[in-house]
Amino acid sequence: MSLLTVQDLSVAIGLLPLLDRVSFSLERGEVLGLVGESGSGKSLTAMALMGLLPLIGGRITSGRVSFDGIDLTRLPEAEYRTLRGQRIALISQNPMTSLDPILTVGAQIDQASRIHAGLSPKAARARSLDLMRQLRIPEAAAVHGHYPHQLSGGMKQRIVIAMALAGDPDLIIADEPTTALDVTIQAQIIQILCDLVAERGLALLLITHDMGVVAQACHRVSVLYAGRGAETGPVRDIFARPRHPYTKALIGCIPQEGQAPGSLVGIPGMVPAALAYPKGCRYHPRCAIAAPDCRTDVPTGSIVDASGAVAFCHHPLEAGHV
Ligand code: SF4
Repeated sequence: MSLLTVQDLSVAIGLLPLLDRVSFSLERGEVLGLVGESGSGKSLTAMALMGLLPLIGGRITSGRVSFDGIDLTRLPEAEYRTLRGQRIALISQNPMTSLDPILTVGAQIDQASRIHAGLSPKAARARSLDLMRQLRIPEAAAVHGHYPHQLSGGMKQRIVIAMALAGDPDLIIADEPTTALDVTIQAQIIQILCDLVAERGLALLLITHDMGVVAQACHRVSVLYAGRGAETGPVRDIFARPRHPYTKALIGCIPQEGQAPGSLVGIPGMVPAALAYPKGCRYHPRCAIAAPDCRTDVPTGSIVDASGAVAFCHHPLEAGHV
């Protein structure tokens, strides 16, 4: 049984449907990339998994979310509160949204250990220092007494990761954890997260818009477009043989070594707003191979590769069409 199974998850905010039958699963010791442009529904999916939709007036309208056998769609808020932090932790894009500027970072990691692991103040401090060293924070004892504003962006994100680990979670959801960081620090943070998965056997749902990050870090990938699944499967196979035109376009956006500055071409057009989703395949206004049926019929998922990759496309690209 997968640690996390998301089956046909649909989400609405008010009366506006935003996520439409999204499915994926995640095993222990695995990194799954949830990828797409802004407006694809990635962060909304994270909020649904964390049980935080009510904060934005949202709700799950249909589908199933199972975490270690627990049906999260029916979990009372009091039980969800225990699950968050202890078994499922969230790392957000901007570390400053997770850190309190008037408390030392050490006090904040200590607090997470005390709340989620029930440790005494002394044991919590020892655990904080241990976590900080595991996350390769130099001079951990000194940094423990620093305030967030005294640390660099990369160091602050390591503190947030330490807080996420304080409850010894089984699943970490990292929502664009490196977007606010420069490229070198990005690579370090992604490597730290991958090492944690390998060493601790936890599962990581890595939400990103960057296929380069997916290539570096993930075992499998699930591509979203305008609130729907586009393609999902093992990273190696999807990068070698993308079958959905949107996946292929995203892969084409990865900067190549030696590429001239300014020569990178993005995907023409924009993700449609939820109030203006087109009929049929929502990607059809941007798709170079759209056919008449794409404008009228919603594509369903079908297995397109021996690896088990699934594409939601009426006319999946032939293998080798890269
Ligand atoms: S269903 Fe049609 S429009 Fe959509 S991605 Fe496939 S070919 Fe393009």
